[in-house]
Amino acid sequence: MKHFNYIFTGSGLAALMTVYKMAQSGAFKDKTILLLDENSKKTNDRTWCFWNIQKGNWEPAISKKWDSALFANADFTRDLDLEPYQYNMVQGLDFYNQVFEFILNEKNISYVNQKVTDINELDNHVFVATEKETYTCVTVFNSIYNKAQIENQTKYPVLQQHFIGWFIKSKEPVFNPDQATFMDFSVEQKGNTRFMYVLPTSTTEALLEYTLFSHDLLAKEEYEQEIEKYIRKLGIHNFEIIEKEQGSIPMTCYPFWKKTTNRVLNIGTAGGWTKASTGYTFKNSDKKSTQLVAFLQEGKDLRQFHKKTKFWFYDLLLLDILNRHNELGASIFSAMFKKGNPTLIFKFLDEETSYLEDLQVILKCPKRLFIKALVRSIRYIYTSKTT
Ligand SMILES: Cc1cc2nc3c(=O)[nH]c(=O)nc-3n(C[C@H](O)[C@H](O)[C@H](O)COP(=O)(O)OP(=O)(O)OC[C@H]3O[C@@H](n4cnc5c(N)ncnc54)[C@H](O)[C@@H]3O)c2cc1C
Repeated sequence: MKHFNYIFTGSGLAALMTVYKMAQSGAFKDKTILLLDENSKKTNDRTWCFWNIQKGNWEPAISKKWDSALFANADFTRDLDLEPYQYNMVQGLDFYNQVFEFILNEKNISYVNQKVTDINELDNHVFVATEKETYTCVTVFNSIYNKAQIENQTKYPVLQQHFIGWFIKSKEPVFNPDQATFMDFSVEQKGNTRFMYVLPTSTTEALLEYTLFSHDLLAKEEYEQEIEKYIRKLGIHNFEIIEKEQGSIPMTCYPFWKKTTNRVLNIGTAGGWTKASTGYTFKNSDKKSTQLVAFLQEGKDLRQFHKKTKFWFYDLLLLDILNRHNELGASIFSAMFKKGNPTLIFKFLDEETSYLEDLQVILKCPKRLFIKALVRSIRYIYTSKTT
């Protein structure tokens, strides 16, 4: 049975960011690292967007940047000047290629395309089985998301950011390639939080995603009918679909870190690296993977890795409201974006604001709703401490 220092079960965003930085650091050259994934990671399976100020590791994989974004609902539209931020688009395949080209040159890192079937922690090591082989290691970083575990508990609300996206090419030049549509709530809400998200790459090309923050997925036709309706509303009559994508990203404050042991750390969405109130994961994974690589060099117990912050609680407030009153999402986000300072909102979502700045963002939202959620959430925390 082959033995490794580190095995990554699941080798998507979080694992690849972590291994890339481990290789970059030069501090793990004497450690053997195995990446396992059931997927070959050779297809363009998703489009990531994230905002940042400074150029970072993923610059070579960025295919488009926007300095401006649009927020809209049925009553108003607002152009958001993103400065000093830029909103960046990364095609999944460009990211995978960038990472694999770099890490597979390292003698101590290997990738095996196999489906993991078991992770079993024993006294002195971890046993990992795939459909074809078995391995042992000192430490597992797992990013295989256990949907049932999260959805079968009732203590913490679980919503989904779910969507279908069409990348289209139109005959009519209707798009403004200098501006992404961040959230357009002018679409019918039908008792949920529903919006269109548009990433134009030229006047005739864009990715359009019909997105919900809600509990239940829709039938495929419903997302697609809504995308088509929106395309017509934009004045497009002739278009072809170049690519499609879909996703369902969990939005929850479930305390993933409680599952960490000294040998198995869940990372990525499986480890709570998805921002609970938005579903954004790219930026958070970038930050967390940097922290993890530094943490590993300190040789500490993995259970000390997670640090709970005030932002966990803020996310809980919003999720509590959307969980009970899913129809209120459009009014809450509209209140935040109508007059709020976009730079401050991004900083808040990046979990980098001071208490004073937090208040500036939160006080833009409907106060009564948040006060009620505050009372309920304090109760959540109390019961989670006593159970
Ligand atoms: C279409 C789409 C678009 C998204 N867009 C954005 C965005 O714009 N911005 C943003 O911040 N976030 C976005 N997200 C959310 C999030 O960034 C991604 O889901 C991200 O890939 C999560 O990273 P991860 O490492 O947790 O999971 P993944 O990247 O999904 O990696 C997990 C890996 O585990 C593998 N795996 C699963 N089961 C097994 C098994 N049994 N054995 C072996 N391997 C297994 C999978 O093949 C996968 O490669 C998007 C998600 C999707 C699906």
